[in-house]
Amino acid sequence: MTSAAPQPATVRFRAVVDRIPAYVPGARAADPAAHKLSSNETPYPPLPSVLAAVERAAGQLHRYPDMFATELGEALAARHDVEPAAVVAGTGSVAVLGHVLQAFCDAGDEVVHAWRSFEAYPILVQLQGAVGVPVPVDVAGRHDLDAMAAAVTERTRVVLLCSPNNPTGPALAHTEVMAFLQRVPPHVVVVLDEAYVEFVRSPDPLDSRAALAAHPNVVVLRTFSKAYGLAALRVGYAVARPEVARGIRTAATPFGVNHLAQVAALASLEPAAEAELLARVDALVAERGRVHAALGAQGWDVPEPQGNFVWLATGERTADLAVDAAAHGLLLRPFAGEGLRVSIGTPEANDRFLEVAAAWR
Ligand SMILES: *Cc1c(COP(=O)(O)O)cnc(C)c1O
Repeated sequence: MTSAAPQPATVRFRAVVDRIPAYVPGARAADPAAHKLSSNETPYPPLPSVLAAVERAAGQLHRYPDMFATELGEALAARHDVEPAAVVAGTGSVAVLGHVLQAFCDAGDEVVHAWRSFEAYPILVQLQGAVGVPVPVDVAGRHDLDAMAAAVTERTRVVLLCSPNNPTGPALAHTEVMAFLQRVPPHVVVVLDEAYVEFVRSPDPLDSRAALAAHPNVVVLRTFSKAYGLAALRVGYAVARPEVARGIRTAATPFGVNHLAQVAALASLEPAAEAELLARVDALVAERGRVHAALGAQGWDVPEPQGNFVWLATGERTADLAVDAAAHGLLLRPFAGEGLRVSIGTPEANDRFLEVAAAWR
């Protein structure tokens, strides 16, 4: 047998696949002592009760999970005061958003979203063959809802609102979202991506339940990855009208929520566990306030942080600053030429970040 050199593949990607920018995950630590402030994770380890539930569930690894995450869906429906058919769980809320786009967008349909906002948006939109219509956030890092409403055309199928906005930080106010919903035609889906909702402390917080009750075109996205500390397990969900949820469920990956994730999410909703998780959120919110104030005192102009992260508009210095931070044992999330997103971590990590930030002021 002669072994010929392997033939190169001549398969052809869809053109869009070659155009799509790669998702840049937060840097991973080569140094285990480094503080990872690059992915908006919680710095706290899993609760013992959640770990114990996952350990017990591991004995069932040879079984497929409950395809519809029935028990979790029922628990979530009860807390959102909707029927179980209104909840669609998925492999993280990013996957659920992908299913929303699959359910509503044909090639060439338009999806209006803020920019800069969550980097997954343009990727998911383009992969779906849809056309992203990015609307710049204002100088304070806020959605420009007037411009977004004006960007809705007869080609628009979906609008994405991210509150608090990743990576800039501000949250949308309830009043402004309700006014916006009045201006969007009822056949256009409005996604409220609330990945950081537990961290919001604003005088007029978005009440997505009321928005959904008043507007049947609303889809609310939530995740267990941030406040609930289950990023590794990949579980998030949508809440929508049952007739809207039906289409999202049709697009969903079969068995997309694994058994360990279902069990861990349910264990996190147990009253004692949830109270502890929300106390951690309170501690992070307090640290966020401290970091924000200290950055302000250093002279940084930081958009109002309502998630578990802050945004520094470092412009051309962004990459250098990220390298310097890494040398100080801090992994941050640089957006080259624009700015740095820095997750709120332990007080020790935050102190070290403030030292680095001071040196670059
Ligand atoms: C982290 C994040 C999510 C949630 O992602 P998962 O897939 O649930 O881990 C969704 N939206 C935004 C804006 C985020 O920052």
